[in-house]
Amino acid sequence: MISVEKALSEILNTIHPLGSEKVNILEGLGRVIGEDIYAPRNIPPKDNSAMDGYAVRFQDTAPATQEKPVIMEVIEDIPAGKIPSKIVGPGQTARIMTGAPIPDGANAVVRMEDTEKDGKTVKIFTPVTQGYDMRYAGEDVRQGERIITKGDILKPADIGMLAALGRSFIPVYQKPLVAILATGDELVDIDENPGPWKIISSNSYSLAALVLECGAIPLQLGIAKDTREDLLAAFESALRADIILSSGGVSVGDYDLVKDIMKEVGNRMEFWRVAMKPGKPLAFGNLRGIPLFGLPGNPVSSMVSFEQFVRPSILKMMGHQNLYRPAVKAILQEDIELKQEPRRHFIRATVSWEEGIYKAASTGEQGSGILKSMVQANGLIVLSEDTVMVKKGTEVSVQLIDNSVGQRATPEYL
Ligand code: AMP
Ligand code: MG
Repeated sequence: MISVEKALSEILNTIHPLGSEKVNILEGLGRVIGEDIYAPRNIPPKDNSAMDGYAVRFQDTAPATQEKPVIMEVIEDIPAGKIPSKIVGPGQTARIMTGAPIPDGANAVVRMEDTEKDGKTVKIFTPVTQGYDMRYAGEDVRQGERIITKGDILKPADIGMLAALGRSFIPVYQKPLVAILATGDELVDIDENPGPWKIISSNSYSLAALVLECGAIPLQLGIAKDTREDLLAAFESALRADIILSSGGVSVGDYDLVKDIMKEVGNRMEFWRVAMKPGKPLAFGNLRGIPLFGLPGNPVSSMVSFEQFVRPSILKMMGHQNLYRPAVKAILQEDIELKQEPRRHFIRATVSWEEGIYKAASTGEQGSGILKSMVQANGLIVLSEDTVMVKKGTEVSVQLIDNSVGQRATPEYL
């Protein structure tokens, strides 16, 4: 049996980021960019006006006051999008709209409110300084500047920036194809009749949902019987995937054959059994070079093992730098008593944020077959090996497994 840390580091040592692919800009949202992005042009491309008003030589406005405005000749009208055709000389001005290019000769803008039009002339009531109400070429982005760094997760602002730079297709890390195989003679698929004895393979779906939540692609391979032939055939069809997940068949039962297959020629078993609860019987290795996680069959064990080991692996393949869920310290709301075991405990918990602190309580019955304990959980309290008792009021570490917790910026909060 190996520790959680050792298991994770052995797994991550064998996992490598996939290559990148070009996708349509909007499909890049939430994905990891595969290259540094440099600006091919200045944004804005030219000096332009930040206000509706008059483009002037700032020197000419110096004597302007409310009582004695400076009177200037209006030589041109420049709406946004128009290219100026005249040079502004001494005593001249061009009427200009927000975003329109500053004409040559001008070096400042006087706002509409500080002017009064009078036929072909305009009265300017206030002096302006050089560059006043102008936006300079390249003031947002300078040509050649690195604007997005390889490894960044693309958020809406990045998508807007890439659009501003004219990148309709962008390089992002590929999504791994993750094969999911349930094993067990007791299982039926979701729309089959389970009769009185069989159970529906919920793992096939919880695992597929976890894969989707990571942003990867699930390849649902259904259910294999607990026979060598059936398992081999199913694993054969999993070989086109980037990662293979099986559930069940890794304990010490007579029909637990997944480990045996991992030990066959051409495959490899790196380790079996991790000092954690739930999730002890995890087997990790590869099938002809493709990473294989032999997840335990119990519904909670398979999900918790996925959280600890598969999720970071998938994220690493997708180019993520931060592979882990957020962790917080929370105040335990009840006593928790455990059997003394040299295993790390992951207690399903409800976490809340109250008056500036996190609070956590277990979701009740913690058996590894109690899927409801995961349904109710938004966090996992992590207790160290050999813990036997944690008292109410103790500060504990909690992994947040969804983003439902935390102070929300409601209008009252703001
Ligand atoms: P195993 O590790 O194969 O012994 O499976 C342990 C227990 O997990 C079984 O007795 C089933 O009750 C349950 N189980 C295994 N596979 C699944 C599955 N795909 N969906 C739901 N429960 C499962
Ligand atoms: Mg089984």
